[in-house]
Amino acid sequence: MSDSPSIFTKIIAREIPADIVFESDSVIAFRDIAPQAPVHLLVVPKTEQFANVAQLAAGNPELLAELVSVAQQLADEHTNSEFRLIFNTGESAGQTVFHVHAHVLGGHLEEGTLGH
Ligand code: AMP
Repeated sequence: MSDSPSIFTKIIAREIPADIVFESDSVIAFRDIAPQAPVHLLVVPKTEQFANVAQLAAGNPELLAELVSVAQQLADEHTNSEFRLIFNTGESAGQTVFHVHAHVLGGHLEEGTLGH
């Protein structure tokens, strides 16, 4: 189920290209390759230690708070400061990359679109 290194770790290592919009010591953010909204960014902890948001919340709540803070900062920069934050958690919920990441969706969102 989980690949190591994950595709996101390869992006962090610049082994595969991505449109990176933010980077700190602990977090990276880049445009989703298959956008589901006018603004669709992924905010990803650099560690691949946590497969999903529940593991991250239990293991490093400060890092989860940092992800949310980066999401707000990116929404301020890329749209009107309002955004939808999605953490798909588990295969049947649509998770395909088991390296925790937040989807930040902004722009004109269709009502009722909770995932992709
Ligand atoms: P999830 O389905 O919630 O695990 O989200 C994984 C997301 O990663 C999907 O929305 C994909 O479109 C996105 N994705 C996969 N590969 C890449 C890539 N190389 N660059 C940017 N986004 C990607």
